[in-house]
Amino acid sequence: MKLALFDDYRLGVVKDEGIVDVTAALPQHDSGFAANFWVRLCHNFTELRPKIEDLAQAGTPRPLDQVRLRAAVLNPSKVLAAASNYGAHREEMRARGSQGWLQDFGVFLKAPSAIIGPEETIYLPEVGEREVHHEGELAFVIGKTGKDIPEERALAYVLGYTMLIDVTVRGEGDRSYRKSFDGFCPVGPWLVTADEIGDPHHLRIRLWVDGQLRQDVNSGDMLVNIPQMIAFASRAMTLYPGDLFTTGSPPGVGPIADGNTMTMEIEKIGRMHIYVKRPKKSGQG
Ligand code: MN
Repeated sequence: MKLALFDDYRLGVVKDEGIVDVTAALPQHDSGFAANFWVRLCHNFTELRPKIEDLAQAGTPRPLDQVRLRAAVLNPSKVLAAASNYGAHREEMRARGSQGWLQDFGVFLKAPSAIIGPEETIYLPEVGEREVHHEGELAFVIGKTGKDIPEERALAYVLGYTMLIDVTVRGEGDRSYRKSFDGFCPVGPWLVTADEIGDPHHLRIRLWVDGQLRQDVNSGDMLVNIPQMIAFASRAMTLYPGDLFTTGSPPGVGPIADGNTMTMEIEKIGRMHIYVKRPKKSGQG
């Protein structure tokens, strides 16, 4: 099932013909930035699923181009991100002269306030000579609370999968700052429940900039797999329903600039566009 948030944070199910509003399946719904119905939905999805399916079956789909899709996550307690998780990406970062420790696997945090939705625009910050890069990644959303989760049971904690672009200012300094500018976490176009994905380590991931293919890899190439990264992260911190976890960048990262359009696609998930603009300075036309 493809779960989406749209318009005023309505809940939708995406089908071939469009999107069906299934908000009525929720015990409560509150729109706005402090809404927590989404976290409750992630926590109670198994119980709510039959009602959501009934409404999705009975409802009339609206064409996707008539709604505003939002990021398929809302107020995660954290955005966890795997670092240096594809061998060929480690190599390209080493070639750029990146510091040694940055080439080791690890998990860092991105600010949830950086999240934007599909078809939205990143306004580039002023970062001098530094480059801002795209990192197109497979991401997943946690469905239940867990600490010290063993690898063997880790996939049971995954509610579903989505796409995330881990936008990054290259160079010195802490990752959490360089990767947390507003707009640096596009997520979308929806959340595909785990049952519809099957094995998440067999998915083709692609990212284009202005139609030029930059990243093209299979998720099976990741070095630390999803159960291993859930086990690793949950040794330190409790994972909560709705938490977002991104699995690390494939090779092919590169700069984005004013006027670019990024297109990202992951097999079995979907496709989204993200636009890049340099904000106008005051006084300029
Ligand atoms: Mn990344």
